[in-house]
Amino acid sequence: MTDGPKSYNSFFCPQCGTEIPDRFLACPGCHKLVYADRLNLLSKSALQAEQEGRLSDALASWRQALELLPPRSKQYEALREKITELGRQVDGLDTAGSGSPVAQDQKSLLGKNRGKAGILGLLAVLLSKLKVLLLGLGKLHTLLSMLLAFGIYWSLWGWKFALGFVLSIYIHEMGHVAALSRYGIKATAPLFIPGLGAFIRLQQKLTNPREDARVGLAGPVWGLGAALVACGLFKATGDMVFAAIGRTGAWINLFNLMPVWQLDGGRGFQSLSRWQRWLVLAVMGLMLYVTGEKLLLLLMVLAFFQALRKDAPREPDMTGLIEFAFLVAILSAMTTIPVQTAAP
Ligand SMILES: [Zn+2]
Ligand SMILES: [Zn+2]
Repeated sequence: MTDGPKSYNSFFCPQCGTEIPDRFLACPGCHKLVYADRLNLLSKSALQAEQEGRLSDALASWRQALELLPPRSKQYEALREKITELGRQVDGLDTAGSGSPVAQDQKSLLGKNRGKAGILGLLAVLLSKLKVLLLGLGKLHTLLSMLLAFGIYWSLWGWKFALGFVLSIYIHEMGHVAALSRYGIKATAPLFIPGLGAFIRLQQKLTNPREDARVGLAGPVWGLGAALVACGLFKATGDMVFAAIGRTGAWINLFNLMPVWQLDGGRGFQSLSRWQRWLVLAVMGLMLYVTGEKLLLLLMVLAFFQALRKDAPREPDMTGLIEFAFLVAILSAMTTIPVQTAAP
């Protein structure tokens, strides 16, 4: 340890005096964790959140803690398993299978009391979704890029279609954002890139394929919701532009289901076992036969190669399978909505 450039960021272990290089998470000499104090604080707040039933907050703290543990250490693996387990619990809450006070509250509101309380409960659920939906608009880069995209699409297709189109994309992206925040994963608000759609960037890694699949498919699920609303507006008003927005939205969400790379469909396929992939392929084939939508052919070719992959999980993911098959079926059916205007 004589000459040579020395990193100014290195420091000495308070426990054994070994020099700890920059970005090391544990002392190479005695294995003391560099961020031990911060880890203690994080685990305290995570445990408290768990006790109070705020699982998404607990997950957010545990994920921050995970980043401070040396990968491949025992603690890292143990915490990763814990995060996976908590993620499963979060999923359970959403399907109303758990005995948490919130889930029971919603169940009783939606079930037994069909009167005023039922309607109020439904409104509360809708309002909480709406709150998430508006969250992204508070970010300047999202709002500005959205306006820019709107302006460009307006000049191409007129303001009505452009507005509906941009809103559909926004709702799709916020579906991802909602799923991410449910799992306590940090991500940026959506950024619009005219002609390419919109993107969010994850600031943390996903810890298992099932999480990846839920987050990936949440976009098309919310996007399908937006397309259905557009169709409802068409039925109510008879204005063709709503039919065009619904149909285009459905097509774009179907396109995003391509089971490849980091596309939503690629993420959705992560958690599916091989036979489940074959099953989705079969649904795609059936819908191609029913609707004649050529895009499905491309999806089928990609799904075929994914189904051959040996690294697919052995454990099947039923929720993932149902979500994927349902999305393919409804979205491709919606691409056959007749549209008579000049709009695409
Ligand atoms: Zn040390
Ligand atoms: Zn997406």
